Amino acid sequence: MFPQYDVIVVGAGHAGCEAAAAAANMGSKVMLITMNMNTIAQMSCNPAMGGVAKGQIVREIDALGGYSGIVSDKSMIQFRMLNKSKGPAMWSPRTQNDRMRFAEEWRLALEQTPNVDFWQEMVSGLVIKQNRVVGVRTSMGLEIMGKSVVLTNGTFLNGLIHIGEKRFGGGRTGEKAATGITEQLVQLGFESGRMKTGTPPRVDGRSLNWDKMEVQPGDDTPGKFSFTNTKPLTNQRPCHITYTNQDVHDILKTGFEKSPMFTGRIKGLGPRYCPSIEDKINRFAERERHQIFVEPEGWNTVEIYVNGFSTSLPEDVQYKAITKIPGFETVKMFRPGYAIEYDYFPPTQLEATLETKRIANLYFAGQINGTTGYEEAASQGLMAGINAHNKVHEKEAFVLGRSEAYIGVLIDDLINKGTDEPYRMFTSRAEFRILLRQDNADIRLTGIGNKLGLASDERLEAVNNKIIATQELIDQLSKIKVKPEEINGKLNQIKSAPIKEKTALINFVRRPELEIDDVLSFHPDAEKLVANLGKAIIEQSAILIKYETYIEKERSLADQMNNLDNKKIPVSFDYKSIPALSSEAKEKLSNIKPKNLGQASRISGVNPADISVLMVYMAR
Ligand code: FAD
Repeated sequence: MFPQYDVIVVGAGHAGCEAAAAAANMGSKVMLITMNMNTIAQMSCNPAMGGVAKGQIVREIDALGGYSGIVSDKSMIQFRMLNKSKGPAMWSPRTQNDRMRFAEEWRLALEQTPNVDFWQEMVSGLVIKQNRVVGVRTSMGLEIMGKSVVLTNGTFLNGLIHIGEKRFGGGRTGEKAATGITEQLVQLGFESGRMKTGTPPRVDGRSLNWDKMEVQPGDDTPGKFSFTNTKPLTNQRPCHITYTNQDVHDILKTGFEKSPMFTGRIKGLGPRYCPSIEDKINRFAERERHQIFVEPEGWNTVEIYVNGFSTSLPEDVQYKAITKIPGFETVKMFRPGYAIEYDYFPPTQLEATLETKRIANLYFAGQINGTTGYEEAASQGLMAGINAHNKVHEKEAFVLGRSEAYIGVLIDDLINKGTDEPYRMFTSRAEFRILLRQDNADIRLTGIGNKLGLASDERLEAVNNKIIATQELIDQLSKIKVKPEEINGKLNQIKSAPIKEKTALINFVRRPELEIDDVLSFHPDAEKLVANLGKAIIEQSAILIKYETYIEKERSLADQMNNLDNKKIPVSFDYKSIPALSSEAKEKLSNIKPKNLGQASRISGVNPADISVLMVYMAR
């Protein structure tokens, strides 16, 4: 019934969709098996993509030739560039999306990808021969054979949903949990753990009093994620902001004795930075109110996502409390909030390619690796799909460095440090964040995506043109000069220091109080120069000029780190025979078997003294 596949992807969430698309677009014969084809690319929680550090990841996926950026652009209802008041390393694109359209666009994209077959069923086990995966077994007892398997089970492995004292099996509400895989993997020697996440209630927008809330509009000039020709929005749906108050908190507290979190029924650790509302009022008792973002679920639906009110308290307590929020007095609830516990596999059991160390050709991507978030999942899916394809076609492993991409930081952190709480990306996790900006993701990664066979030649050409045009603009800005008598009046007006001699425009761009658009208006030649240039090129030039010293400094630090990454350690290196290493370092290094000194230095528990010892031994 089925041919033999190159890559079998289990699960069609964000990780699974990217994995299937990447492997197929590179030329693999792909089977995408998922429990329910109507929930392909379902957004389990918030209908939004991107945000701080996550927006950078979506742009990186896009530059490499993945689909998450394109799908997000085609289904967005609002666009905002977050942190615009901070430096460019912090600028982060975020979209509010139409949940149904997002899923539909993903499904269309996959259906239009040659080489992807679909099968709707639960995978209950793997077929393994001599420590190599050769296929999967389904709940109906079918065997589907493949040269590699990518597991992207999300929150479904032995998923257990909690609402107050009620609990029932499920991978998301209304969907079955997946069983069999964890048990088999544990028997094979894998370590597994439990994590937890939660979601807020969804409500009927027709029952809300919008006049009592603050409006949160999208950007005046909305941007987009993809570097391809997707269209920015011309019309946007606003979000709204309201707040909890003491009444809301008092009612929520009446449910604490039935809270699965506080009574210890939930064992798994949840995301600390994304706490439930009961956690917030418990942990930050001094706070009189918490912000609630009231977000539409799409263009045409009346369903509203109550962001900031994630809860697993009993549904009647949720309802009573939510009616005390300004604007929600006559609210009708569509779905209660809930918490879910699920199995994950500590990611230190993976190679940098996301292949498991224990079973050859078996890859894990997404929430199964202890991460949280669509973007984190999608990027791992992309990397696992690429590597599964490369492995079965005997091509080189594909790994991104920490100075190349947030995706590199994410995977390096996971496999070396592991995680015992849901891992999400923050800009602070990247040591080179001025290099890893959202605006230059195309410059950093399109060439790589093109070599992999994922980003088209036209895209590469467009990036090369952008690089040339940016450099030309910078060169011209160093050549065009203004005299004091031409400009000091204007500088005075905008409270910028006057000049004493003829000065090149580039020096004004360096001034923190001046925007490049101000400077371009200083000279007609400059205005002419940019008349036909895109906004991205002007913005790119401004960033490169203003942050030149920071960029150079990070580049040289990155080079130093890359030198350590180039110092290879043999797999057979016997750490236990080095007395000067700390016992923790001996244990961690022997378990993880880092490929190079750089990787060794990033393993938690291995300190700089241990690295110095290793360097001495390796030099011998
Ligand atoms: P998923 O999106 O979960 O997709 C898994 C896919 O695999 C599904 O299609 C499923 O049907 C399929 N599948 C599973 N097992 C099998 C099997 N054995 N056989 C066949 N198919 C299978 N993230 C945040 O960043 N912030 C939040 O606040 C947040 N809250 C959440 C709240 C809830 C209730 C849930 C469920 C998730 C939440 N998440 C949140 C997490 C976010 O949804 C995930 O990070 C993201 O969806 C993970 O993507 P994934 O591809 O790894 O898995």
